[in-house]
Amino acid sequence: MVWKHGKRWVYSVTYDEGCAALLDYAVPIHRRFGVPGHVALVASQIGVPRNCPGSSYDGMMILSKGEIRGLCAEGWGVSNHSMTHVALTMENAEEEIVRSRAVLEDALEMPVRMFCVPGNNDSYPPVRAVAERAGYTSIMTIYDDVNTAETDLLRLCRVPLHAEYPPPFYSAFDPYKRLHQAMDRGGWVIDYCHCPMPDRPIHPWKDCTTQQLTERFERVLRVGGDEVWLAEPNEVVEYLLAEGGRDR
Ligand SMILES: [Zn+2]
Repeated sequence: MVWKHGKRWVYSVTYDEGCAALLDYAVPIHRRFGVPGHVALVASQIGVPRNCPGSSYDGMMILSKGEIRGLCAEGWGVSNHSMTHVALTMENAEEEIVRSRAVLEDALEMPVRMFCVPGNNDSYPPVRAVAERAGYTSIMTIYDDVNTAETDLLRLCRVPLHAEYPPPFYSAFDPYKRLHQAMDRGGWVIDYCHCPMPDRPIHPWKDCTTQQLTERFERVLRVGGDEVWLAEPNEVVEYLLAEGGRDR
């Protein structure tokens, strides 16, 4: 498999919720390394303090329409992360998955064709069931694996870029996580976290620090050299749809 621009493998990174603090902490690191980012946005919560009681990110300001469009102008992309970030079921699928896409597109005045499963993978089956009717070309999960050119675009895997992993799988941060696997297989790594902060993650199982994000990008560029395509996920999906003759 040869990826766009003749590259051998692909690296992407995504931030769920789209906290405005990304502008202060993550975005400067992206600019320094030339890596495009991506935000998964809750459709009902653009430019307001996050209202998800019980979430580690509750109360944090979310990027505004203008801020999001500014990031998109420098190569970032977006996905829909449901209407309200509840657990998804067939009962709420119409509101959370189908209608939320129109709400987010109206709020941002731009097309949104990727869905990012909120919470955990238990919410995946209802998304899979309605995604094509709802007009999505792709779905990102939190199943930890490397994608390839053959991966089902409606079940994209993401690699948690977190400071620690929950018990019983105690595990330290690994800046090389899955990179050599992706290089060997000609694959596509999509990292995910929420809002990296200096020195201490907001939640060690949901985030890394800005130092760890920097370390990750350094390793991607060091081991990837000229062979890695630093890509925004929607652009990779568009490439696969065009190249592979896929019909979605
Ligand atoms: Zn989320």
